[in-house]
Amino acid sequence: MALWQEVNDLSGEQVQLCYHCHKCTAGCPVAADMQYGPDALLRMVQLGQREAVLRSADIWLCAGCEACGARCPNDIDIARMMDALRVLAVREGVQPALPSVPKFNTLFMEIVRHTGRMHELSLMGLHKLWTLNLVADVPAGLQLILKGKIPLLPEMAGARKEVARLYENAEEGINRE
Ligand code: SF4
Ligand code: SF4
Repeated sequence: MALWQEVNDLSGEQVQLCYHCHKCTAGCPVAADMQYGPDALLRMVQLGQREAVLRSADIWLCAGCEACGARCPNDIDIARMMDALRVLAVREGVQPALPSVPKFNTLFMEIVRHTGRMHELSLMGLHKLWTLNLVADVPAGLQLILKGKIPLLPEMAGARKEVARLYENAEEGINRE
């Protein structure tokens, strides 16, 4: 099956409708840090450039903010396309061009799975250990802790069992596909 068809099946979108007006990339808050940007990445999906798309850091840099979808004249929800591409990349064990980003994503999701909410200090500490990037941003992190912007200990959300169930349901859905 062609890459664009797989993406359509996973996302519920119709990426072949894109006529490359570039409005999505013009409004994307992280496009400047991306390798291709949403418009060009979508074109690569249409052309079936599977390896370059799935290896791209762009699919992990996308913040899912939906600014692109809100601007698209063809109502393509590109955030959903990015979700579908991340699913394909993980499923196929593709090594991304910027491995620290999916590591960040994995840690973020696991912390929320176990506590029901985000704990920034755990995320920063675990990410530094995993990436061996131990000293970058430490002064800024200390400032945030000293000013009370980041709690030292994680708090458990009251609804954490419901959150964990959401994960289980999502994983069951993915395994069924
Ligand atoms: S805004 Fe929509 S139609 Fe325009 S380039 Fe982006 S995805 Fe394609
Ligand atoms: S959802 Fe992703 S690609 Fe779209 S504007 Fe936001 S960060 Fe950019």
